[in-house]
Amino acid sequence: MVSVEQALEIVLRETPALPPEEVPLADALGRVLARDVAADRDLPAFDRAAMDGYALRAADVQHAPAALELVGEVRAGEWPTLAVGAGQAARIMTGAPLPQGATAIQQVEKARPLDEFRVTILAAVAEGQNVAPRGSEVRAGDVVLAKGRVVDPAAIGVLATAGCARAVVARRPVVALLVTGDEIVDVAATPGPSQIRNSNGPAVAAQARLAGARVELLGVAPDSQQAIAEALRGGFAADVLIVSGGVSAGEYDLVEPALVELGATFLFTKVQVKPGAPLVFGRRGAQLVFGLPGNPVSAQVCFDLFVRPALLKLQGAQVLSRPRVEAQLAGKLKNRSGRKSHTPARVRFEHGRLVARPLRSAGSGDLVAHARANALVVLEADREEAGEGETVEALLLGRFLEDDGAPQ
Ligand code: AMP
Ligand code: MG
Repeated sequence: MVSVEQALEIVLRETPALPPEEVPLADALGRVLARDVAADRDLPAFDRAAMDGYALRAADVQHAPAALELVGEVRAGEWPTLAVGAGQAARIMTGAPLPQGATAIQQVEKARPLDEFRVTILAAVAEGQNVAPRGSEVRAGDVVLAKGRVVDPAAIGVLATAGCARAVVARRPVVALLVTGDEIVDVAATPGPSQIRNSNGPAVAAQARLAGARVELLGVAPDSQQAIAEALRGGFAADVLIVSGGVSAGEYDLVEPALVELGATFLFTKVQVKPGAPLVFGRRGAQLVFGLPGNPVSAQVCFDLFVRPALLKLQGAQVLSRPRVEAQLAGKLKNRSGRKSHTPARVRFEHGRLVARPLRSAGSGDLVAHARANALVVLEADREEAGEGETVEALLLGRFLEDDGAPQ
């Protein structure tokens, strides 16, 4: 058995980087930037009005109220042809370039136009007030998005600002996913008394998609080495092969022999992780191979801990693991497993501190409890318990659920 840290290190060591490709800006969402992106001009590109108001010389309104001569108007999108001299002002709109001679803007609410040609400025302004100076955000040539950044809506906006109608991102990893188990039936089928619906297929596929992968479903194979090997052949072209179920020590856990038959070699087959433990990682040539435990929560958690980082590393992402925070435990937890344990919990900001409230869960099959969690409380393999109010580590799952009033 390897530790969680060792397992992740091995996975990342074996994970290469995929080549880049160019995609239209709108398709870059969720992808990982393969190049630094630099600003092609100063931002703002000119001294920009931050308010609707009057462009003027700050010195002229030191002793406001002060009457100024109106010399015209500057609109957004227009390059000013007028200049503001001593005792003068120009009407200016948010986003317009500051005209020559002006040193500040007084907002429209603090002025009263007298007639077409004169305005009374009611309050003094400082030099530069309400003006966003050219280059005050970034300078032309500055890196505005670093290589390895996952593109989110804010990054889409920055890419657009930098003139990137197309973005250079890592190719999406292709994941082939096989579900195993005699007892598993398709979501659309009516399960018999001893059967269960396939939740790992859709759920793990969804996790892989959120991590940027393209997923090919290999269907559900019964617990037969031959059937598993046959189905896996359909996934040979993928970058990553994932198998759900059939990796524990049972007589009908035949994924490992099937993978060996197909030429895979394993780097580990058990990890000191709870939920989980039976967790296979290896390679078949250049292809990464993961065997996830069949228990739905184990599958989700092990995916998050080991497969998601691999998918992100394939894409060159900078941040591979989910964020961790320290929180005060509300309740008690036991961990007699000798493995690093992950308990579904709600982490919230309460009375000035982060509190982690473990959720009632029936164990590694309890997907409903897992779906209510926004975090996992992590106890090290050698920490047998954590008491009320003790500091614990919590792994944030990336869904910020409010308390839904469900029993905990
Ligand atoms: P296994 O790892 O194959 O021994 O499966 C462990 C447990 O997870 C068993 O109770 C299975 O019924 C359940 N399980 C396995 N595969 C799935 C699946 N695709 N969807 C939901 N539950 C599953
Ligand atoms: Mg099974």
